[in-house]
Amino acid sequence: TVVEKQLKKEGKSRHDVGRPEFLKLVWKWKEQYGSTIVGQLKRLGVSCDWEREAFTMDAPRSRAVREVFVRLFEKGDIYRGKRLINWCPQCLTALSDLEVEHEEAKGALYYLDYGNGVTIATTRPETIFADVAVAVNPTDERFKHLIGQKCKIPLANREIPIIGDEAVLTDFGTGALKITPAHDPTDFEIGQRHNLEQLVGLTETGKLNELAGEFNGMDRFKARTAVTEKLEAEGLLVKKEEHINKVGHCYRCHTVIEPYLSDQWFMNMKRLAEPAIAAVKNGDVRFVPDRYSKTYLAWMENIRDWCISRQIWWGHRIPIWTCESCSHRQGYVEDPTGGCPKCGDARYEQDPDVLDTWFSSGLWPFSVFGWPEQTPDLKYFYPTSTLVTGRDIINLWVARMIMLGYEFLGEKPYTDVHIHATIMTRDGQRMSKSKGTGIDPLELIEEYGADGTRFGLMSQATQSQDVRHTEERYEQGRNFCTKIWNAVKLSLSLAKDTQPTDKPEPTSLADRWLLTRVSQLTRKVRGAIEGYNFDQAAGALYEFFWTELCDWYLELIKPVFYQRQDAEEQKRVAQCLLYALDHYLRLSHPIMPFVTEEIWHHLPGERAPLILSPMPEPGWEDAQAVSEMDTLQAVVRAARNLRAELGLLPKQKAEILLVAPASSKELLEKNRPMLEALAMAEPLTIGEDRPGKALSQGVGELEVFLPFPADFDLSREVKRLEAELAEARKFAEGTERKLSNQAFVDKAKPEVVAKERERLAEYQERARGAEERLKLFTNQ
Ligand SMILES: [Zn+2]
Ligand SMILES: [Zn+2]
Repeated sequence: TVVEKQLKKEGKSRHDVGRPEFLKLVWKWKEQYGSTIVGQLKRLGVSCDWEREAFTMDAPRSRAVREVFVRLFEKGDIYRGKRLINWCPQCLTALSDLEVEHEEAKGALYYLDYGNGVTIATTRPETIFADVAVAVNPTDERFKHLIGQKCKIPLANREIPIIGDEAVLTDFGTGALKITPAHDPTDFEIGQRHNLEQLVGLTETGKLNELAGEFNGMDRFKARTAVTEKLEAEGLLVKKEEHINKVGHCYRCHTVIEPYLSDQWFMNMKRLAEPAIAAVKNGDVRFVPDRYSKTYLAWMENIRDWCISRQIWWGHRIPIWTCESCSHRQGYVEDPTGGCPKCGDARYEQDPDVLDTWFSSGLWPFSVFGWPEQTPDLKYFYPTSTLVTGRDIINLWVARMIMLGYEFLGEKPYTDVHIHATIMTRDGQRMSKSKGTGIDPLELIEEYGADGTRFGLMSQATQSQDVRHTEERYEQGRNFCTKIWNAVKLSLSLAKDTQPTDKPEPTSLADRWLLTRVSQLTRKVRGAIEGYNFDQAAGALYEFFWTELCDWYLELIKPVFYQRQDAEEQKRVAQCLLYALDHYLRLSHPIMPFVTEEIWHHLPGERAPLILSPMPEPGWEDAQAVSEMDTLQAVVRAARNLRAELGLLPKQKAEILLVAPASSKELLEKNRPMLEALAMAEPLTIGEDRPGKALSQGVGELEVFLPFPADFDLSREVKRLEAELAEARKFAEGTERKLSNQAFVDKAKPEVVAKERERLAEYQERARGAEERLKLFTNQ
């Protein structure tokens, strides 16, 4: 299509340059853009076996296409037939049902007088010239006495029979249906049942033909108006009603497609579909998310024969030769050298049509490994494990690979079909190159790095249908990579000269906790990746690194290196840290391959490339360490909240008082230095007596108190909070008034109303917070 558009700009069509020259141009285009795509994939860090790159049009794949075609042809499953197909009058080719895009359009229903008391309703009066009958439902009391009689096509003045057929709906239009077998799928079937003639009333380019008399040569849409006007002038138009119907468009050029009677190649699908339906039903092939198996089964269970021929030039040419004298047809895997094998006539020519591109794509899972040769690759890799693709090609591609896999290999092509979410624009539109709403992955990589881009994508890779493109996610990804880089640099400065080990000895609570969390993270990330929940894997990796490793663990171990000088302790802690980093890098490598591979080689010890290193296994777990750490973290968080309530600066020390039951006292005492450091507590008192003037927060059975500092001006703080509360309430009321004004809600854009609602919630939250803090102070 792109090459044809380029030619059009130069005022040429493919017919002007000729078939061989045209194919050369397409190959040139393919080489240029094919390598662009491969370049993008490489920069994105896609890990493919680039030595096995293949293309559906290369020699081994072409061989597979011809082999499959000839085998199915010889079995009778590929046949030539005059069928109603979807025809694009612009591209001059047949299209498969899946290549037609249906859209609702406003049209009209025209009621026409066919004489003999018969009125028919049609949306397409220009097709009347190809009518061959009028059909009524034989159970319809209004019309059944007419069956066997005749009526007359208006304007054409041609008599046609009135027939009875149960497919005619009695409640649509008038209940009498004009039958145009060559231009409507229902009519085609009715026509076949009654052995009716198939009159073609349109040319390939969508113009009326000689059947239409004075309208001969007129474009189909112009003719619709002209025919209607003439009918009206002659008093044959009974009435006209507005009507909405679904109109099919060409996926390539968006021209309205025409159901058209044409000689095409078809593939019989019913038999091929059977094992492919069973495979999904019995779980041999699994869709993830499972809901897409419904999409697949709905199509497969009602499958129609596949129109596989296309009247274009780019593609696999149909490997059938036909003899001009005796009409003998034969399929060839290799081009034949002589003439017709039956009569020897030299006018023995290859079919000019090419195959639907999905024909060769459908063979990909085995053609890529060199089938029909029984190659070692084919033996080793087929069936494969997972296919990852988008939902718009489940029927076009996935279904056909499964059917053809069973047919030619007797086995499924893969076990899992993962259908990923589609990235939409920020406001929920489909990304499209022609509308300029797409994004170039290279630009994202320029801006956020390949790993930042990948992390951003993975963190949005939910199992929903669509995700809206949010640039913040890539930014978060880039910042995350920087964070990992810096934190590892710091860690390595602490762990310098330490030899890593597979079996670290965690002795402190912090170490036991860290190794337990690493093991739990390993389970979580592996489980998420195995279940195709990539967003959950990305989220868990982010949370662990940023919060647990950096905010907590690295803070907790600083005293070991900066204050205490116990070399044995330092070695033990450094080995735990290195162990955690080793596992962490392996777990995050699939999402951020570049930064993790680079860092990996800075860790001490002998290291194979990270990309070749196995994912870690869960290891050390100590539930008690986690529950103790949870308590300590909750105490620190409570102390920090209280400090914030009081407006203390981060470095400002303040007294903290913990009132604890005897059961927790030992834990708190043992970890006193950590609590002092992380809560900026000086002094830290652990006891039973509650203080007088203080803020407090409960943590399970514990209570955390922050006594007011000596210089704290309670009345000033109360006044400030009162003012804050009054302001928040005023804004909330104003917004509420706006939202209760029906005229505003009706007229404003939905996103404006939503914004106001958000604002209201924010003011209410602010008021509630101020109110609560006030209560704390005024209760003192
Ligand atoms: Zn088209
Ligand atoms: Zn012959």
